[in-house]
Amino acid sequence: MNTTVHIWQPKELKSELDEIEDIPVRKLNDDFAELDALLAGAMTAKADALKVKDARRRLANGHFPKEERSSVEAMITAWELKKEWLPAASVQMFSAQTCSNCGEVHYHFEGVYQRQIHKVSHTISRWIKSDVVANKGLPEEAKCEEFFAPVCACCSSAFEDA
Ligand SMILES: [Zn+2]
Ligand SMILES: [Zn+2]
Repeated sequence: MNTTVHIWQPKELKSELDEIEDIPVRKLNDDFAELDALLAGAMTAKADALKVKDARRRLANGHFPKEERSSVEAMITAWELKKEWLPAASVQMFSAQTCSNCGEVHYHFEGVYQRQIHKVSHTISRWIKSDVVANKGLPEEAKCEEFFAPVCACCSSAFEDA
């Protein structure tokens, strides 16, 4: 399965998914609902940046009453912590599920993530949920996380008649 070319083309992916029994179609809908949420999140991030910029200016000019200062400062600190991380790669996240019952391994696409490296310690990475807009221009990577499941769709009695 060449997921790279098809991830962001819902119709094509849908027809491809119909042929791949291991990936439930329901998962597809979840992914795109998630994409909408992510795009909304990107807009919120922009609004937050403006809010912080404004708060900094007003704080410097002594606009906030004393009792409000600490919460405003906390908000700015939280924002700065977020910016401690630099975008490093656009990541296609997969999971490999090994069935403890029948031993089969199933791969699933888990969504687009962004690998970020710590501003100071470049060897420290973290992976956060992202989207193609936020990841634009970043080098492509893939990551696969492995885990075990007690049963899978192939050997579960829930799918006996399928
Ligand atoms: Zn199994
Ligand atoms: Zn299986």
